[in-house]
Amino acid sequence: MSESNNTSVTFDQLGLPEILLSSLKAMGFEHPTPIQEKTIQPLLNGRHVLGEAQTGTGKTAAFGLPALANIDVKLRKPQMMVLAPTRELAIQVAEALESFAKNMKGLKVATLYGGQSYGPQLSMLEKGAQVVVGTPGRLMDHLRRKTLKLDAIKFCALDEADEMLNMGFLEDIEWILDHLSGETQMALFSATMPPAIKKIADRFLTDAEHVKIAAKKQAKANITQLAWKVSGINKNTAIERIVETFDFDAMLIFVRTRNDTLTVAEMLERQGYPCAALNGDMNQAQRERTVDQLKSGKISIMVATDVVARGLDIPRIDLVLNYDLPGDSESYVHRIGRTGRAGREGTSISFVRPREMYNLRHYERLTSGTINTFELPSVQELGGIRIERARKALVELAENKDLTAMREILVKMAADSEVSIEDLAAALLFEKQIKQPFQPKEDPRPRRERADRDNRETRGRNDRDGGRRGERADRGERKQRNNSARPDIDWQSYRIEVGREHGANPGDIVGAIANEIALDSAYIGQIKLEDNHTILQLPKGMPKDVFAQLKQVRVRRQQLDISVSDVPAEALARRPRSDRPRNDRPRGGNRGDRSRGNRH
Ligand code: ADP
Ligand code: MG
Repeated sequence: MSESNNTSVTFDQLGLPEILLSSLKAMGFEHPTPIQEKTIQPLLNGRHVLGEAQTGTGKTAAFGLPALANIDVKLRKPQMMVLAPTRELAIQVAEALESFAKNMKGLKVATLYGGQSYGPQLSMLEKGAQVVVGTPGRLMDHLRRKTLKLDAIKFCALDEADEMLNMGFLEDIEWILDHLSGETQMALFSATMPPAIKKIADRFLTDAEHVKIAAKKQAKANITQLAWKVSGINKNTAIERIVETFDFDAMLIFVRTRNDTLTVAEMLERQGYPCAALNGDMNQAQRERTVDQLKSGKISIMVATDVVARGLDIPRIDLVLNYDLPGDSESYVHRIGRTGRAGREGTSISFVRPREMYNLRHYERLTSGTINTFELPSVQELGGIRIERARKALVELAENKDLTAMREILVKMAADSEVSIEDLAAALLFEKQIKQPFQPKEDPRPRRERADRDNRETRGRNDRDGGRRGERADRGERKQRNNSARPDIDWQSYRIEVGREHGANPGDIVGAIANEIALDSAYIGQIKLEDNHTILQLPKGMPKDVFAQLKQVRVRRQQLDISVSDVPAEALARRPRSDRPRNDRPRGGNRGDRSRGNRH
């Protein structure tokens, strides 16, 4: 949490009891965050609260502090209940509440989640825990077994309600809430407010104070967002290069599937990096152990899926790598929020396939940030980095270790074998670099991507827009369009209102579209030019704002006014050759026209 986002109010102005203020002080919490400032007083006054705020805004203290303030420690019955979507989040909330309540003698928190035996949970409940934090499934189990009684609950919070909804807990939540007395004070927190959440709020909250914290512009300013366009080398090679050359303390890698967590973690472990997978197949004890290993520094890389990593709060994490892009843009925000915790600096890197470049726009808007594309070090640069690292390590040894004995052995070795000391040193160096060669082999470059790279090399590193434009225009000019054969792309047909009679040709259209929406022209599929319109293929899933933007674009002074078309791909695939822009067969006069003036 960046202090600069916090308000100028102090916690003691909010009416919290001294017993909580003292532990906040010890934790270094000086000023409340905006959501804390807006919710603590109403909750202390007994109001219900509906809070809309992203992760990392400090919601746990927002509901935790006022709820703890009203707990009667002498009453050994659950008085406060928190519902959280995952085991990890439940544990995290429980730990935070425990630290807030550090000075509340006799206060106990029971954490109730699946995947752990009932023993320790029952014992916490039997000892008279006043606070229970749990996942819906396990809370229901305890209620059914009557090991959890809700008759003394005064306060109930739903944390990350939209996530619980996504995980299919809607009915479970309603079932649990139906067991509460009508007097229970309710707080519901959610990053988004879909209708189903509003319905829960309407049903279970009374006259709620609605608190909404706008996603702040500067909220993620301490996270540098980078993207690497997947090309030339595959993602695994790219990860290795990042792990080897980036300066990070702890890294969290996001992949799509549970299985991928294993393959990527194993690959990195084989390379000698202390690394572990975190996924939903692991039992609770294993998951906790892994998170603890990352916290304590035993491992420095964790490979996880969205679900298990949601809400993780490990300040050490200074690099988040999106090996695969998330399924939805909201998750991107959650993912990168795993770094830059508590006001620290963090970096996120996303591996983006050319056809996924659309997504960067979304992410930029959601984070109100900028995502710069960057290049990984080439093999030559990599060799240089390795040599420099070896040099430093050797010099360090030479300067700080007593090498007398080694030196004597070396001299004797040289004399015995009639090999010069220089050659022996070279042989030692050779041995040292076998695993990570000083002269790495050239990366195999797939043909399609070579063109990409050659273009890219003509532009500067952070020259985002200018660079992309040039590249796109170039490719639109030169590349033969036979993309319908590419099975890896899900195409959608579109109609644009410019055609042959306006003097347009495919090159114009490709150039204009590629320029306008930051789409590599390789991801513009077949184009069928008609007299007064054109049908063309673009990858499925075009964001609404990109679509709107394309509507305005003009080619040959005609507005594209793009619309979705139901012309099937097959109808486009058999386009006569003469329609295709080809650099090996210029058709009189057309080539010059194709240029839209953005070439390098
Ligand atoms: P959320 O539940 O909204 O994702 P958390 O409650 O987990 O956010 O808080 C995010 C991080 O910010 C935690 O590390 C927490 O300790 C820290 N934090 C919360 N409130 C404050 C505050 N007022 N001052 C300093 N740090 C805070
Ligand atoms: Mg939270």
